[in-house]
Amino acid sequence: NVVHWMGMRDLRIEDSRALEAASQRAKQNDFVLRTLRILQKELAELNIPLAIESTDDRKSISQRVLQKCKEWQASDLFANIEHEVDELWQKSSAVSGAHEYGVHAECLEDVYVVPPGSVKTNDGRPYGVFSPWNKKWTEHLRQNPDLLEPSEKPSENDASARKDEKLRKLFDAKVPSSVKGFECVDREYMEKLWPAGTESARRVLQLFLNSKGGEVNPEPAAAEAKGKQVGSQDKASKIAQYGSARNLMSEHGTSRLSPYLSAGLISARECLRALKETTGGKLQVGRDSGPAMWATEISFRDFYGHVLSAWPRVCMSRAYLRKYENVKWEYNDEQFQAWKEGKTGYPIVDAAVRQGAKQGYMHNRGRMIVAMFLTKHLMLDWRMGEQWFMRSFIDGDLASKYVWLLCDWKRSRHVVDSVSPCSKHFKNSSNGGWQWSASLGTDPQPYFRIFAPTSQSEKSDPDGEYIRHWVPELRNVKGKAIHEPFTRLGKEEFKKLGYPEPIVEHKWARERALRRFKDPGTE
Ligand code: FAD
Repeated sequence: NVVHWMGMRDLRIEDSRALEAASQRAKQNDFVLRTLRILQKELAELNIPLAIESTDDRKSISQRVLQKCKEWQASDLFANIEHEVDELWQKSSAVSGAHEYGVHAECLEDVYVVPPGSVKTNDGRPYGVFSPWNKKWTEHLRQNPDLLEPSEKPSENDASARKDEKLRKLFDAKVPSSVKGFECVDREYMEKLWPAGTESARRVLQLFLNSKGGEVNPEPAAAEAKGKQVGSQDKASKIAQYGSARNLMSEHGTSRLSPYLSAGLISARECLRALKETTGGKLQVGRDSGPAMWATEISFRDFYGHVLSAWPRVCMSRAYLRKYENVKWEYNDEQFQAWKEGKTGYPIVDAAVRQGAKQGYMHNRGRMIVAMFLTKHLMLDWRMGEQWFMRSFIDGDLASKYVWLLCDWKRSRHVVDSVSPCSKHFKNSSNGGWQWSASLGTDPQPYFRIFAPTSQSEKSDPDGEYIRHWVPELRNVKGKAIHEPFTRLGKEEFKKLGYPEPIVEHKWARERALRRFKDPGTE
C-alpha cells in the first residue's frame, strides 16, 4: 500500500514531490491489482480460488506460505524459481522448511527460456560476455526444442471445492479495487495504456508480430505518444521493420511487451513460439532480420538472468566489474532532482524521463541515453538512477507486498507464487541495463565511449517529434534547434521558451568522467 502523508503545507495535488513519488509507486501496484482481478476470475472459472496475503515482513513470507499449506491441509507446494537474491532465499527456505509442515515442496525453472546454469563455457564457467553466450544459448535451444514447449493449462477443479469450508471465503474474497489509502491519479490513462491480463499481453504480441503499420499498442494514450506512425497498411509487419525502427524513439517500433514479460503475464517461451510461427517454424537469432533481432532481445533477457544467477552480487548494488567499484560518484540532490523531473536542459534526456514518469515505461534508446547521462555527465551514483527506474516503471521491480497463492483443491495441492520481488534487491533487466550504461557490467559500454546527448538525439529522434511531444516547452522550436536549443537559438529566443539551460556542459562532463574511470578512486 502507498500512503501520502499530507501535511498542512501540502494541500494540493499538483507539483508535489511526495505525491508524485506515491503516485509512481501506486502505478505499479495498480497494474498488479488489475492483473490479480483478472487472474482471480480466470481461476474461479476452473474452481480454483486465489488467496491474497499481504505482509510487511519479507523474512516471514516463506513461513506464512507454509502455514497456509498446513491450514489448507495441502500435501504439495510448487513454485517457480526466481533468481534474485531475496526471492531465491524465500523459496529455498520454503523448500527446506516444508517437511516441518508435512508438505512436499518443489521449485521449478520457468522465468527464463533456458534455465540459468545450463549455458557454460567449454571449461564449465559462466559467461560474462553476451555474444559467445548467445551463440551457445541458440545452440542449446536447437538441441532442446522441448524448452519452448508450453506447459499444460490447469484442469478444471471439482465444483465441490467451492463448498469447502476452508476455501469458500477465498472464493468470496475481493481483490482490492485500488491501492488502499491512495488512488493512482492517472489510473484511467494507465489502464488504457497497459491493459492487464494475459489476453491483453497476447494481443500486444500479436499486433507486434502480425500488424502492418498503425499502433503496436492501440490505446489512446499510446497513440498520443506515437509522434509518427510506423509504416502504413501496405508496408511490412512491425516485426519485419524491427531492425530499422527499434532505435527511433518517435516510432512504435518495439513490442512494448516488457511490463507483461516482467510481471509474468506472458512467458518468454510463448513469445518465441509465436515468433517461430511467423517465420515459418524456424527460430532465427542474430542481427540478420527483424525477427532474429527480436529473438536476440529475448535472449538478452535470459542473459541478464544467467549473469545474476552466477554473480548474485550484481543485484546487491555491487558492480560486476570490481575494478570500477570505487569510482567516485557525486550525490548532488539538485542535479538528481533536475534529472528526475526532466529539466536537465538536454531535450532528449528530458523527453525520455518525462515519458518514463508518465507512462511507467521508457523506450530502450531513451533508457540508455538517460542512464548514461546520469552516470557520466552528472557522475551521479548509478544506484540512484536504478532505484528511480524501479520505483517509476511498471516493467521494473513490481515492488508490492502482495503474495498470491493458487490453491488447486482437487489434487489437494497448493501452488504458490510471490508477486513481490520485495524491492530490497533489484531485477535483472534493469540492473543489466544500468551496469552496461555505467560501464560497470558484463559487456560494458567502454567507459571512454560516452553518448553525446545531442548526436544521440539527432540519430534517434531526427525530426524532433518525440521531444516535441514530451517537452511541450519546445513544441514550437523548428528544425535542428530542437536537439540543442540553448546553443542553436538566440539568447532571447531561448529565454522565452521557459526551458532550462543545460545543467552541465557536455565537454567538461565527458572529461571528468574519463578521468574518474581511468583511475578509479583517485579524484
Ligand atoms: P522489445 O525491443 O520489443 O524487446 C522484447 C523484450 O526483450 C523486452 O520486452 C524485454 O523483455 C527484452 N529486452 C529487450 N531489450 C532488453 C535488454 N537490453 N536487456 C534485457 N532484456 C531486454 N527492461 C525491463 O524489462 N525492465 C527494466 O526495468 C529495464 N530497465 C532498463 C534500464 C536500462 C538503463 C536499460 C539500458 C535497459 C533496461 N531494460 C529494462 C531493457 C530494455 O530497455 C527494455 O526491456 C525494453 O525497452 C522494453 O521495451 P519493449 O518491450 O518494447 O522491448
